[in-house]
Amino acid sequence: MRELGAPQIAEYEPEVRGLAAIHVGTTGICDFVGVARQLAGSSGADIRYGARLVRVDRRPEFGVAVETARGEVVRARVMVNCAGLHCDEVARLTGDDPGMRIVPFRGEYYELARPGLVRGLVYPVPDPAFPFLGVHLTRGIDGGVHIGPNAVPALAREGYGWGTVRPRELAGTLTWPGSWHMAGRHWRYGAGELRRSVSKSAFTSAVRRLLPAVTSDDLVPAAAGVRAQAVLRDGTLVDDFLIREGARTVHVLNAPSPAATACLPIGREVARRALAALAAAG
Ligand SMILES: Cc1cc2nc3c(=O)[nH]c(=O)nc-3n(C[C@H](O)[C@H](O)[C@H](O)COP(=O)(O)OP(=O)(O)OC[C@H]3O[C@@H](n4cnc5c(N)ncnc54)[C@H](O)[C@@H]3O)c2cc1C
Repeated sequence: MRELGAPQIAEYEPEVRGLAAIHVGTTGICDFVGVARQLAGSSGADIRYGARLVRVDRRPEFGVAVETARGEVVRARVMVNCAGLHCDEVARLTGDDPGMRIVPFRGEYYELARPGLVRGLVYPVPDPAFPFLGVHLTRGIDGGVHIGPNAVPALAREGYGWGTVRPRELAGTLTWPGSWHMAGRHWRYGAGELRRSVSKSAFTSAVRRLLPAVTSDDLVPAAAGVRAQAVLRDGTLVDDFLIREGARTVHVLNAPSPAATACLPIGREVARRALAALAAAG
């Protein structure tokens, strides 16, 4: 890593402005679908797509049986729950109290119409009070540049637009005490994010702090993503990995931006805990 003063930033990113920067020469981007296919193909695992778990029957002395929405039953000696946006619900299906709730935050993105303005990956200094990165510039493997995300409350766990509302899921968020503690503490930050969601010019101003050459015509709306943010009962936004074990179960309750390069060590850690759960079950 190399520290850069303001004039040196231009050596790497001629259009980006800042008071100072850290250049990380080893960072990179990859085709994550390709990585996932490779891991799946070489693992020897039996992967069932579109199989939604709806019921769990756990007998600590025998094992775990899970039922899918299609009525299939899968039996195992240990279950690993890494259900992302639904991991707290799946934990509760096993009978374990996860002690947290997933509060979904939608991140909205724009595509840069002039991708030549950015050469690599550019991140602002993160606010340590939040697990969100802030609006950043990301060059993808296709050469396009994504700009975003902001972070606005999603009205459903898979609420990729303001129009997707799931009353049961929304009620789950609103009845969780942590949501209100979080809102009371961070409403000012949230208001700024909402403003950037409804006003393209407010979003453009945020981007211009890093990339002054950008105009609102350069920003083409792109698909949004939903972040599965784990929130504790006291309103703490969990910003690190959160993995909890129950009898014959390992619950991965927060897995923030692990990056493709970290998948293997994280997988090993989860496997170690699964083996420990198996040993504990005798
Ligand atoms: C727009 C966006 C961009 C991102 N970019 C990056 C990046 O560049 N680098 C990075 O490191 N991270 C990035 N992240 C973060 C990263 O995607 C997450 O941290 C990571 O995917 C979390 O992994 P997970 O396994 O916990 O959950 P997920 O990847 O969400 O996987 C959960 C899986 O469980 C399945 N599932 C849920 N419920 C059930 C059920 N009842 N039965 C069966 N299956 C179920 C889901 O279908 C899904 O396949 C990004 C996130 C977003 C939203």
